[in-house]
Amino acid sequence: MKPSLIKNNKQVIHKNPWFLGIVVCIFVVFVSLSIPIEKRKYGLSQRNLTTDYTGLLPERIERIVKVGNRTELQKIVKEANEKGQHISIAGLQHSQGGHTYYKDSVVLDMKTFNKVLEIDKQHKTIKVESGATWEDVQEAIQPYGLALKVTQSQSIFTIGGSLSVNAHGRDIRSGPMAGTVREMTILTPTGEIKTITQNDSEEWMKYVFGGYGLFGVILDVTLELTENDVYTIHTEEHKTHEYEAYFAKLLRNDDTSMHYARVSVAPNSFLNEMYVIDYIYTGKTDDQTPLKKERGARIGKLALDLCRQGGGVEDLFWENQKLLIKSLDGDEITRNNAMRGNSAFMEFTTPGRVEVLQEFFIPVEQFEEYMSDLKRFLPAIDKNDDFKIQNITVRYAAKDNYTSLNYAKEDMFGLVILIQHGLKEKEINNAKAIIQGWTDLTLKHGGGYYLPYYPYQTKDQFRIAYPKWEKFQEEKLKRDPNDVFQNIFYDHYF
Ligand SMILES: Cc1cc2nc3c(=O)[nH]c(=O)nc-3n(C[C@H](O)[C@H](O)[C@H](O)COP(=O)(O)OP(=O)(O)OC[C@H]3O[C@@H](n4cnc5c(N)ncnc54)[C@H](O)[C@@H]3O)c2cc1C
Repeated sequence: MKPSLIKNNKQVIHKNPWFLGIVVCIFVVFVSLSIPIEKRKYGLSQRNLTTDYTGLLPERIERIVKVGNRTELQKIVKEANEKGQHISIAGLQHSQGGHTYYKDSVVLDMKTFNKVLEIDKQHKTIKVESGATWEDVQEAIQPYGLALKVTQSQSIFTIGGSLSVNAHGRDIRSGPMAGTVREMTILTPTGEIKTITQNDSEEWMKYVFGGYGLFGVILDVTLELTENDVYTIHTEEHKTHEYEAYFAKLLRNDDTSMHYARVSVAPNSFLNEMYVIDYIYTGKTDDQTPLKKERGARIGKLALDLCRQGGGVEDLFWENQKLLIKSLDGDEITRNNAMRGNSAFMEFTTPGRVEVLQEFFIPVEQFEEYMSDLKRFLPAIDKNDDFKIQNITVRYAAKDNYTSLNYAKEDMFGLVILIQHGLKEKEINNAKAIIQGWTDLTLKHGGGYYLPYYPYQTKDQFRIAYPKWEKFQEEKLKRDPNDVFQNIFYDHYF
């Protein structure tokens, strides 16, 4: 009898739903912990060649200087002026078009130049060195119940890098990032250290912001801050043709502080469906809630990697994303936490392929017509194509009067597009052709494109998108006659 009892017990255990559940859980945990979150290999020293975030455009540079202090920097700039050397400036190198280096140049690695110099709680300002990241700033100001006025949706960038591209994010009330800088210390191309403000008669800020490191080194910055407000998250699903009206209403009522949207790139709802996420004032502020850390990166990466295959999986992913977003509806979040989105799950490390960003700007009232045209231009199904669109998010970029090379000549929507393509010459050329066609379509609607990304666009397209390019170049020649500050981006377009 005993053996059969044991046998019976075994059967019972095997059939027990709890047992099966535990096995499945252990399996899922095991699989998810085994998903590698490798960092892509990019950066200043890649076997003597330098690249940026995409790993494209490798170049040999002369040397890297880890920036320690201002006197040393001043000496390097003065010496470069005398000897005809070129200097490039690197933050965290998330820009993708060779903005941070140049052939045989001296590259200033700003990452170590990252001290918080002063926090003024009463006047709500922070003075900080330019190599600090937004994360460093958030950590310093969170205990004071303060938050940034404008920054990107992730906090992984340096302040110098973000100001040099005049970045934008989710805030729809504070205008361009440039407008939140009260004062700044720069090292000019002739080696002078200058403190500048918005009212400075020489208009340095106009060229340093959105100046891509071509007008000098930003040393430190005094930024205006705001309260660390608490928001209620509000989410809604829409058809793309309803979005313009939805956003106009949102902008008129000032109970919403931040906003962004996502457009479907899944075959069944391609460019037809969207969801929006709004951050609504609750009237409460917060100095207690800790800054959130990235969680679930492995599972996120697994889902994204599956979705990167395209086709039916993308439909499933989109439906899932809608559910996930819906589940956030009604949650509360602090301003600081809304400004630090996850990023590790996005790491893309497939050999022979690259994932790049592009951003197209479109006047707010052109959105609907633009999306209709785009639907005719892009294939809804890209499963078997080399060029794949991974996702599209939408942000609002208010008209910018602060910078010379401004992308928001009027109130614009920025469509941030994550694209994947191969690295063979014909694959890169194919991507270039598609993006150039897409750029033409955008220009036709009075729009433009963002410059921190890989420059697939032509010189002619650049000149239409940035009509003040001539003045920018004139000022560059005037302020930096020996071309001390140089990078691949400048070489490509000017
Ligand atoms: C995943 C991802 C998400 C992004 N999201 C957004 C977004 O939401 N909104 C947005 O606007 N942009 C976004 N970008 C673009 C990004 O904000 C810019 O590329 C930004 O410059 C990155 O900062 P960085 O520290 O990596 O700068 P880097 O790429 O190192 O440098 C950017 C430019 O700034 C110059 N520079 C750097 N430091 C200094 C300094 N101290 N003084 C003078 N010049 C300097 C460099 O020479 C270069 O021209 C995103 C990019 C990626 C890859």
